[in-house]
Amino acid sequence: MARKFFVGGNWKCNGTSEEVKKIVSSLNNSQVPSSDVVEVVVSPPFVFLPLVKSTLRPDFHVAAQNCWVKKGGAFTGEVSAEMLVNLDIPWVILGHSERRSLLNESNEFVGDKVAYALSQGLKVIACVGETLEQREAGSTTEVVAAQTKAIAARVSNWADVVLAYEPVWAIGTGKVATPAQAQEVHYELRKWLQENTSPEVAATTRIIYGGSVNGANCKELAAKPDVDGFLVGGASLKPEFNDIIKSAE
Ligand code: PGA
Repeated sequence: MARKFFVGGNWKCNGTSEEVKKIVSSLNNSQVPSSDVVEVVVSPPFVFLPLVKSTLRPDFHVAAQNCWVKKGGAFTGEVSAEMLVNLDIPWVILGHSERRSLLNESNEFVGDKVAYALSQGLKVIACVGETLEQREAGSTTEVVAAQTKAIAARVSNWADVVLAYEPVWAIGTGKVATPAQAQEVHYELRKWLQENTSPEVAATTRIIYGGSVNGANCKELAAKPDVDGFLVGGASLKPEFNDIIKSAE
């Protein structure tokens, strides 16, 4: 079954309202393949979600960059899945490596978050990826399998999950994985899903690549059979994001 190409833009903790308006205007004016060919989701910081949601073209969608692990309440500083649903935000990014490493989010905590967000009706971009030390130690497959297992143990409905493979050493470093490196891990992840979930989940789940994707390297990566799209950080704030969206064709 064909997997629709997926391009996510993770704006991280960047932007002023003026800058956000400029980015949205550039996206709104861009000529990109139709939403039958590519699903585009941009992820601004929480405070800009309503602004982006209300001004972005309707064929592009919006994601939050995180949400709380369970029902909202006395959790100062957190934003709940219910609030995102209330604002009609369809997607959320969970388990980004910056949160795993800087905020100590464990595999289990990320798995709990994914399960809770799905239970509330959100769609999830779930991130996995190894550090440079783990890659050099030869444990890449083991690390991403353990991260995926913590999600699979808590989730049965994979239809609303996009799995983002983001090697930590490639994020924000300008050191993109080679197409062969990305394909190898995506293949392993799909095999893992095949063996541990179901052949249908393995065949239909989008596995997207993230880590220093830009307008110049996206085409070659997109040509790999198990690369179903991208999660883009730095370049999603720039006009070249349009070129990345076009790599779907
Ligand atoms: P980058 O970030 O494209 O700036 O490397 C990717 C990400 O963190 O999702």
